[in-house]
Amino acid sequence: MNDLGINQGTSGNASVRVPKGFLVTPSAVPYGAMVPEDMVLMDLEGTVLDGARKPSSEWHIHRAVLAARPNAGAVLHAHPHHATALACLRRDIPAFHYMVAAGGGRDIRCAAYATPSSETLADHVVEALEGRLACLMANHGMLVLGRDLPEALDRALVVENLATQYLLALQVADPTLLDDDEMDRVLELFKTYGAEGG
Ligand code: 13P
Ligand code: ZN
Repeated sequence: MNDLGINQGTSGNASVRVPKGFLVTPSAVPYGAMVPEDMVLMDLEGTVLDGARKPSSEWHIHRAVLAARPNAGAVLHAHPHHATALACLRRDIPAFHYMVAAGGGRDIRCAAYATPSSETLADHVVEALEGRLACLMANHGMLVLGRDLPEALDRALVVENLATQYLLALQVADPTLLDDDEMDRVLELFKTYGAEGG
């Protein structure tokens, strides 16, 4: 994430579903220094099963999202510049571009603010993700889910690009939004986009 420019320092965290629960990145360890043994194994009740490190301070979010969304195999949280700027304005990303559908719906919501690492923040994120695959987090950053980590990372890049484009457009005027019918058509297209023969 840091190499791709969507995160800085030890901000952000990632998790991946495994048979016993999920593996989550350790708290406050620089990514460059992280090794596989640093990952912390937790179950979906929030108990640490294995690991020498402290789990990410946002383990509540990872646990709650993976529990609420059985199809999610990976969760990724970061503080990218543009997505975070929009999150500080507490603005949803509306259907200003068809790629908003990559977030799973007609818009990408901004989750309500709660203190980092709190269970309340996890509740707000799960709510903002209802029917979606991505959300912003008020005065904090963004979060995406995916079937696996590569898909989640791709989606994080798409959301950050959208946030950049939306902020650019807003500097001139309020962009013209696609209507619900058009977004529903695009969402339908997304179901087969990239699929074999699709
Ligand atoms: P961790 O290093 O504990 O994962 O925290 C980073 C972060 O982004 C908190 O919101
Ligand atoms: Zn964070």
